Amino acid sequence: MTDKSSFEDLGLSPQTLQAVYHKGFEEPTTIQRLTIPLMLRNDLNILAQSQTGTGKTAAFGLPLIDMIDAHCETVQALIVTPTRELAIQVSEEINSLKGEKNIKIVPIYGGQSIDQQFRRLKRGVHIVVGSPGRIIDHLNRKTLKLHEIQHLILDEADEMLNMGFIEDMEEIMKHTNPDKKTLLFSATIPKKIRELAHKYMDGYKLITDKMKQLTTNLTEQIYFEVKSSDRFEALCRIIDIEDSFYGIIFCRTKNDVDSVVSHLNNRGYDAEAIHGDITQVQRERTLGKFRKKTINVLVATDVAARGIDVANLTHVINYSLPHDPESYVHRIGRTGRAGNEGTAITFITPREYKRLMFIQRIAKTDIRKGSIPRVKDIINAKKKKIYLDLAGIMEQDIEDQYYNWAKQLLTDKNPTQLLAAMLNYCFKNEIDPEGYNEIQSAGKKSMQLDLQGKARLFIALGNKDNINPSKLVKLIAKKVSIDPQQISDVQVMNKFSFVTVPFEQAEKIVHSFRQKGQKPLVSHARSIIDKKNNV
Ligand code: AMP
Repeated sequence: MTDKSSFEDLGLSPQTLQAVYHKGFEEPTTIQRLTIPLMLRNDLNILAQSQTGTGKTAAFGLPLIDMIDAHCETVQALIVTPTRELAIQVSEEINSLKGEKNIKIVPIYGGQSIDQQFRRLKRGVHIVVGSPGRIIDHLNRKTLKLHEIQHLILDEADEMLNMGFIEDMEEIMKHTNPDKKTLLFSATIPKKIRELAHKYMDGYKLITDKMKQLTTNLTEQIYFEVKSSDRFEALCRIIDIEDSFYGIIFCRTKNDVDSVVSHLNNRGYDAEAIHGDITQVQRERTLGKFRKKTINVLVATDVAARGIDVANLTHVINYSLPHDPESYVHRIGRTGRAGNEGTAITFITPREYKRLMFIQRIAKTDIRKGSIPRVKDIINAKKKKIYLDLAGIMEQDIEDQYYNWAKQLLTDKNPTQLLAAMLNYCFKNEIDPEGYNEIQSAGKKSMQLDLQGKARLFIALGNKDNINPSKLVKLIAKKVSIDPQQISDVQVMNKFSFVTVPFEQAEKIVHSFRQKGQKPLVSHARSIIDKKNNV
């Protein structure tokens, strides 16, 4: 498959292509180009190296949808994920891609009533997505049978190893049909993963989503942590605080582009869309308006924005995180050109933080954390702009009729009162704080984050390693030069410990404790929470 292949080139059925189209995907991601044709051959085991966020769920989900026999109500595919969140996410993603095909997908995970899951399994399902603990639970109770499965998918296999699920994975594999095809997805391929592949996959093809060397330009790069539901509000605030915003907003799918444009239009912005379903004529018209600045906001998918050459953009906004570092670099390369200053802003949810750090590393760039403009700052910025606009008008020739009118109005009115009434009349809506919605702290519902955007880390060192809270804080502070005050809630157990640190320090810490070829010493505590809850 070439870098340019489209979904039509990958061998998917017309029915599945239709579903992809409805979902709003325009072109396959790299991992989809590599995986889909191989999986559809159905004669190979595959070991695929791929990060989260690269579109890997659809990479295995789409061929699965095509290969499932919907008339036969036995479990034909099992997808094992390290956490319950991922199990739910994967099953939702596959559900959203199955189109008209009558496929039943069930997530099974700890924390949900096992009887409820049992009833759903009994009614007949084709694809089960589950976390290891709960799958084994069902296997032991004989409420899940895997002897007829055609496909076994191990998602985020390295995470499962880190979380100590190796025996569970082996146990699950033992219950499966020996003729099945196995697909193992892993962000990294350490020795243990290769061993697992050798042991349980009778010959496999390795595919890696190789990263090209990348460099970014000097555009200022900022990221904002926002909950998905607050992204639109954050976007409006960013546009509003600028003197004259002139930018492209990138979304992942056509559907997202349309939705952002219609919301922006409803709130009074001059925004238009370009994506794969927009006719050439309309595209040219929109681009013409954008070049002439008749509209100042262009909302686009990556595909549609290719080849657009517009100078002097003030902003590029990644409304959703791109699939790979390469598209990040392409997107932000559209601003900050030819000595012009520009800003690239990326919205992330707390879950996407790791992926942003991955992009930052591969793109060899620096993306700093920003805070979303406060309503009062936006209103002050707007007032300043109004003042400058008025001062500009005062420098020009104003027609006599306005002078005469002003004089007449001032004869019997207090000038301050009159001007206040005039401002109120002209700008009431523009500077009304009520026009903005509240934005909640991004980490509110996330398991590994608290309200202040902090992360809880798990450290594989404890009392038995001669560690106490003070030693642990010193060790971390030394390793990443962080102020010890920023490390809180230190809990040292016999074999491991927990600490809480600011969100942006977390990844640095995890990274700096990494030792080549060894189990990570520090990881996000989510894994532990999930394990404790018997996922
Ligand atoms: P994943 O890596 O599977 O977690 O996918 C990350 C996100 O990318 C999900 O929101 C998918 O719906 C989206 N996605 C996957 N493939 C594509 C594609 N070809 N075009 C646009 N979005 C995609």
